[in-house]
Amino acid sequence: MLLNTRFNFSSQQVFIDGQWQAPRSGQSTALLNPSTGEALCDIALGNEEDIDAAVQSAKQALLGEWGQASALERGRVLTKLGQLVLDNVDDLAKLEALDVGKPLTQARNDAIALARYCEFFGGAADKVHGDTIPYLPGYTVYTLREPHGVTGHIVPWNYPMQIIGRSVGAALTMGNAAVLKPAEEACLTALAFAELAKQAGLPNGALNVVPGLGAIAGAALSAHPEVHHISFTGSVGAGEAVQAAAAKHVAPVTLELGGKSAQVVFDDVAMDDAIPFLLNAGIQNAGQTCSAASRLLVHRSRHEEMVERLAKGYEALEVGPAMDDKHVGPLISHRQQQLVEGFLQQGNDLTVAATGHKVDNIPERGAYVVPTLFDDVPPNHVLAQQEIFGPVQTVIVFDDEDEAIQIANGTAYGLVAAAWTQNGARQMRMAKALKAGQVFINNYGAGGGVELPFGGVGASGHGREKGFESLYGFSTVKTVAAKHD
Ligand code: NAD
Repeated sequence: MLLNTRFNFSSQQVFIDGQWQAPRSGQSTALLNPSTGEALCDIALGNEEDIDAAVQSAKQALLGEWGQASALERGRVLTKLGQLVLDNVDDLAKLEALDVGKPLTQARNDAIALARYCEFFGGAADKVHGDTIPYLPGYTVYTLREPHGVTGHIVPWNYPMQIIGRSVGAALTMGNAAVLKPAEEACLTALAFAELAKQAGLPNGALNVVPGLGAIAGAALSAHPEVHHISFTGSVGAGEAVQAAAAKHVAPVTLELGGKSAQVVFDDVAMDDAIPFLLNAGIQNAGQTCSAASRLLVHRSRHEEMVERLAKGYEALEVGPAMDDKHVGPLISHRQQQLVEGFLQQGNDLTVAATGHKVDNIPERGAYVVPTLFDDVPPNHVLAQQEIFGPVQTVIVFDDEDEAIQIANGTAYGLVAAAWTQNGARQMRMAKALKAGQVFINNYGAGGGVELPFGGVGASGHGREKGFESLYGFSTVKTVAAKHD
């Protein structure tokens, strides 16, 4: 039993060919609990040899039972996996809370989202199909949707379960065999997912999980010539390295990178509706969310009111250990804590509208940062331009719609955006004008929405995951043109 949960895997092993194995690297490292700064357990650190063994196993799976499985059979495995995830939601949430520092309720929601991905993709498995195309007389032309083959999945530590669901779930659904490299800071739920996949009847080799360092295991996976598609979620710099490595063997890449998302609050906003979304989108998962709304643009006429109400929300925020399930947990690591504190220092010239507070007796060695709301921030200030990845939001004031659009689109990123307005024409204009992969009108995030295509433009990346777009992305189209009399 791992950490008093129902899971039996050893965190010091890798999962290759359906078997738990000692890593070929012979290496492991301590995983820290960010709430306390204490060691949780040791985890394996796979290397190039482990990645290669995983890729060879995936190749074999494609030649065997998994490669022969019908769409219906694959869908059933995914659906069963979804049920097993649901049966183990509490234990998955516990692992994630301990590993990531995510408050228990938020970790539980992630586990439920993982189940939803499995259910959604499982149900869709036999509903993705090609087309017939009217062509010249004497021809029958149609398209087939086929798997890429071996897919590589490199995921970060902030939402391991959700990201595994949307990428590995979709890849398996389309008949690929997957090699998953979770983040070195948080990999327990990835390993738990492998244990459940085996129970669900996924054939050996269809899913392999190799924890390891980005620069070693991640780099080996993206450079492996027999990996036919890479899905990468993480920072811009690492994404660039992954894309460059994959380009050497011309493998397609999906990049889900960072963001500096804006919510635009107009003069006709329904403020009661907006406030919870504005606040939550900044502090959920302690702001370590790619789609965090770290910029709140507000029309001058509603500025004072919005900041006053948000400040009340901030002052009520409690920061504490993940297992105590407060509003805000610790950051993932002391390194991340230092990064965010560095940004806060760069805000010394700004006005702090409000902060949250730490609970009494908070563990001294936990990686805690108190949520901070900065007011009246110039749009070009470093805090309004760079992804902070911590519980920090900046309020920016605008005077008209054109200016709001210019500011909202004025960063290198383009992941998610929102407009709050009762004016229907303005809603439509904003939906078109905002530079982002998802635009929300009078809401934000839509509760995650496994059905809703997600991804970025600009420095936020390219390619789409979630919804049917995931299934298209994890397959390739073959055109068949048959000439006959
Ligand atoms: P990171 O890039 O440091 O690490 C992400 C993953 O990439 C980890 O598994 C890591 O081991 C691996 N990695 C690191 N260097 C690598 C390399 N050279 N080659 C191959 N793999 C490598 O990012 P992080 O700090 O863990 O995560 C935070 C970033 O992820 C933020 O920028 C955030 O916005 C982004 N993110 C984006 C999304 C999205 O869907 N767009 C979701 C979550 C996080």
